[in-house]
Amino acid sequence: MRTQAPSSIEMLERLVAFDTTSRNSNLELIQSIQGYLDEFGVKSTLVPNAEGTKANLFTSIGPETEGGIVLSGHTDVVPVDGQPWDSDPWTLTPKADGNLYARGTCDMKGFIAAALSHVPAFQRAKLKVPMHFAFSYDEEIGCLGAPALAEKLVGAVPRPRAVIVGEPTMMGVVNAQNYGGGIVATFTGFEAHSSMTHLGVSAVHFAGDFIHWLNELQEELAQRKRTDIDTVPGHTTINVGIVTGGTAGNILARECTLNWGYRTLPGDDPWEVQRRAEAYIAELLLPRMKAKHPAADITLKRRSFVPGLLPQENEEAAKLALEWTGGNRTYAVPYATEAGIFRSHGIPTVICGPGDISQAHQPNEFVARSQMDACDTFLGKLTRWAETR
Ligand SMILES: [Zn+2]
Repeated sequence: MRTQAPSSIEMLERLVAFDTTSRNSNLELIQSIQGYLDEFGVKSTLVPNAEGTKANLFTSIGPETEGGIVLSGHTDVVPVDGQPWDSDPWTLTPKADGNLYARGTCDMKGFIAAALSHVPAFQRAKLKVPMHFAFSYDEEIGCLGAPALAEKLVGAVPRPRAVIVGEPTMMGVVNAQNYGGGIVATFTGFEAHSSMTHLGVSAVHFAGDFIHWLNELQEELAQRKRTDIDTVPGHTTINVGIVTGGTAGNILARECTLNWGYRTLPGDDPWEVQRRAEAYIAELLLPRMKAKHPAADITLKRRSFVPGLLPQENEEAAKLALEWTGGNRTYAVPYATEAGIFRSHGIPTVICGPGDISQAHQPNEFVARSQMDACDTFLGKLTRWAETR
């Protein structure tokens, strides 16, 4: 059986070589991780999606007791399409600036790599409480894999004490995050020649009205900026990410879809934006559209919902993580992570991982070598803590 592990950076090199853009299967990467764990005699469990094209992985090292620590991360990455990269996004490229470049280095294979490289250290240690790994798929398209993973994990292992979600926080301890909602709005119009606007109704034009209304709502919500929470910006945000519609320049469009979403501050009403959008559509927009043609329709379909993270629910995890980072304060973040999903199972959860979120989703994404070192130090302290429970 193997006892020597690759360094966290060598492990990262292996992980970034798999193109796990969310639209692709992550199975090759997951099987590679499973194979790696097997080499150390660590058996892992896969939790596949319904189609069997993707899988979450979880495993435990150490005694089968309560009070373990879950190290959690997502294996998917965002696309590199159309981004000007200076190096191959699927090859770890160290540069003289001390940074390691590749897609997913910071968001968030860096943390997974560090956790995996610590497998033999976890095995050698006389752990009093177990270390659990929980690696998911489809985080980047709405945290689709994590709910099944969290459920499986909670059912399969004695109650863990805390979850660490290793999203990039520069190894700061984050105990508050926004809610995240993703919605698809489908506008159905009625085709007509573009010179005969009185005979049909354009789905694209009404989708445009809806975008305009979302912009106004966003401005209103920005007026309610909060100062009790240190996220920037300190208010609910709305974004229309994808607009698809129409077939020709001279046809009133039959269909237009908007893939949009919002982020609500922890403690605010996470359903306000959706509720107001539904009301606006039912009371104002759809009647106007139907007045042009009775076949018109607008539907809102929830694509994803990620629960927020409230500081007071995670004090236990924050206290521990601060011990391992040596930090003296916690932070809040405006983005949504899988932390809210674990928290919804009642386990104190914080976000803490290597790299800067401003690097995430960018061309030339990188993680600083010093951040990987800091993550190694964190895991080392965590190991010693688990030995001395
Ligand atoms: Zn991420």
